[in-house]
Amino acid sequence: MKRQLSLSKDHWHEMLAHVDRQIPLEACGLLAGKNGRVEKVLLVRNQAQSPARFVMDPYEQLEAFNWIESNGLDLLGIFHSHPTGPETASVTDIAEAAYEVVHLIWARLQNGWQARGFWIEKGRATEVSLKIME
Ligand SMILES: [Zn+2]
Repeated sequence: MKRQLSLSKDHWHEMLAHVDRQIPLEACGLLAGKNGRVEKVLLVRNQAQSPARFVMDPYEQLEAFNWIESNGLDLLGIFHSHPTGPETASVTDIAEAAYEVVHLIWARLQNGWQARGFWIEKGRATEVSLKIME
């Protein structure tokens, strides 16, 4: 099954600004929308305040879920950053993936931030294409 996630440039830049601001810590958030198309980026505080892992603040996560539901949208993705890499889902990411959504990972590489999407299921991560629209 081919999966794809579409995002607008604004959503892309909103996430990028957030992950960049949180350096050296990992940043995280949720992506809500319909039919594989993101309509809203929800920033969530990383309760772990760590450069190597993230734990969504449970209160902010619940608030975000409520917002998504009351706006008739679906949870399409979860994003988080790897300020020092890797550019793929880590062993921890795969082990802790609790939702069947696209896991978008922002990795800070030598030439700047890059994002890739993954579908994580049954202990395996497969790449999902990200489509950036105007
Ligand atoms: Zn990770």
